Amino acid sequence: MRLFIAVNFDEAIKSRLVQIRDRISAQALRGNFSRPENLHLTLVFLGETPAGKVPAICSIMTDTQRTLFLHEFTLDFTHTGCFRHSNRELWWIAAEKTDPALGVLAELRRRLTGGLLAEGIAFDNRPFNAHITLGREIKHTSPIVLPGEKITAPINRICLMKSEHIGGVLVYTEIFAVDLKREAINVP
Ligand code: ATP
Ligand code: MG
Repeated sequence: MRLFIAVNFDEAIKSRLVQIRDRISAQALRGNFSRPENLHLTLVFLGETPAGKVPAICSIMTDTQRTLFLHEFTLDFTHTGCFRHSNRELWWIAAEKTDPALGVLAELRRRLTGGLLAEGIAFDNRPFNAHITLGREIKHTSPIVLPGEKITAPINRICLMKSEHIGGVLVYTEIFAVDLKREAINVP
């Protein structure tokens, strides 16, 4: 099964992401734009993985959450941009490189990938570049111009996702998740 570990977003965040996606699509000639339910941030891409490895991956996620003892935090998505492949573009939104919360996310990924390495579970180990893909295979004639944005998204849950094409539609299914701890509430 094709697997990845991701951060998913609630409906309110996804609808703001969809607004940006739609601004891009309105200026594009063509493109493959992410369906709202598919908007996510990939933390670790495992790719084709034997189903028998799933329990070990779930344990790694649980152990990471427990030992890192990470409270939920937020990322400010402020930066839209694109990767170019030949004459097509993949548009994304990301946090500023200097955002300290990106360091927390990177540590979360380090813990997860450390666990995967220890278990001999393969994953893509290219440098981590946290982003949310809004659309791919995008072609346009005039430059795409977008207003400034700041979407403050809670990072409160890490999900193991299965990726498949069902009837030609890309479908991601959450097969396991761990919640990050809520901030402690001060009880007087
Ligand atoms: P498609 O079916 O067109 O490939 P997709 O790229 O969204 O669609 P997957 O390839 O299953 O679906 O990828 C799932 C997630 O993992 C996406 O966020 C994708 O960008 C990311 N991803 C895919 N391949 C890699 C890779 N080699 N390294 C890092 N992230 C990847
Ligand atoms: Mg892909």
